[in-house]
Amino acid sequence: MEFSKQNPLSRRHFCLCCLSGAAFAATGGWLTPREAFAEARGLVSLIKDSAAVSPIVTHKLRNNISVLEGSGGNIAVLTGPDGKLLIDAGIAVSRPQITKALDALGADPITHLVNTHWHFDHANGNEWLHAAGAKIIAQANTRKHLSEVQRVEDWDYNFLPLSSGGIPSEVFANEHDLKLNRSSIGLKHYGPAHTDSDISVTFAEANVVHVGDTFWNGIYPFIDYSTGGSIDGMITASDTNLAATNNDTIIIPGHGQPVSNKAELRDMLVAIRDNVAKLKKQGRSRDETVAAKPTAAFDAKWGQFVIDPGFFTRLVYEGV
Ligand SMILES: [Zn+2]
Repeated sequence: MEFSKQNPLSRRHFCLCCLSGAAFAATGGWLTPREAFAEARGLVSLIKDSAAVSPIVTHKLRNNISVLEGSGGNIAVLTGPDGKLLIDAGIAVSRPQITKALDALGADPITHLVNTHWHFDHANGNEWLHAAGAKIIAQANTRKHLSEVQRVEDWDYNFLPLSSGGIPSEVFANEHDLKLNRSSIGLKHYGPAHTDSDISVTFAEANVVHVGDTFWNGIYPFIDYSTGGSIDGMITASDTNLAATNNDTIIIPGHGQPVSNKAELRDMLVAIRDNVAKLKKQGRSRDETVAAKPTAAFDAKWGQFVIDPGFFTRLVYEGV
């Protein structure tokens, strides 16, 4: 399918490897990988700063569905006479660019917003979108996490609750259906996966599905153990995605470019899980496991973004 080859999702704007490298240089190299990562705790601020200046690129997918790329996670937009439905809100500082991109898609007002999960790069724009007219819908755990201080251990960061306007007003446990703009829209909870709040959003007639952060196309995914995620949950979610799609389905990942090649969803996760589990079973420590490079076969393709091979190995190690 046609989709821009250039990825403005800030590969060039922020890069954990560079940050770790800088920390390494600043301390003469006396940092363990974990410390180097903690050193990069300004990452959330960096992502926000990057979003403030990043352009938003619009990709028309199929029927009246588009994807806006450039503010945190991929934002899907359904347009039509019932108003615009957004899947994910991006980061609040991108409001001017997102507003411009939405205006270019038509004059329909913003009426609905769905959060695929609670993370800030998908829900930080909730408050302004609610003020602009969106009713916010999400899985119940998303509302819970957005309502309290949320510590993410592996980011070494405490996220503050959103103000009341940004909290989803309509939540569900397992499934929720919407009918808007002549589209049948199915929201479905994965169970524990990338977090405990992830849902898929399926546009039935268009055969398009937004799978949130259960899939990062071509880049190692973050797994948020602090709010219920795990490597096994990610693999189960990949199985769910495979079962729910066919070769014609356009899959919108949480990060990276939309694809219609579903095979890539799962194999990398399973292979690395097996490699790491084997090493851990042999009694290797986390650092020894990282040193054994269990992701080596996948690094060239998947290890070029925020979650570098060592960090992804540590995330998998934690869960096997
Ligand atoms: Zn996420």
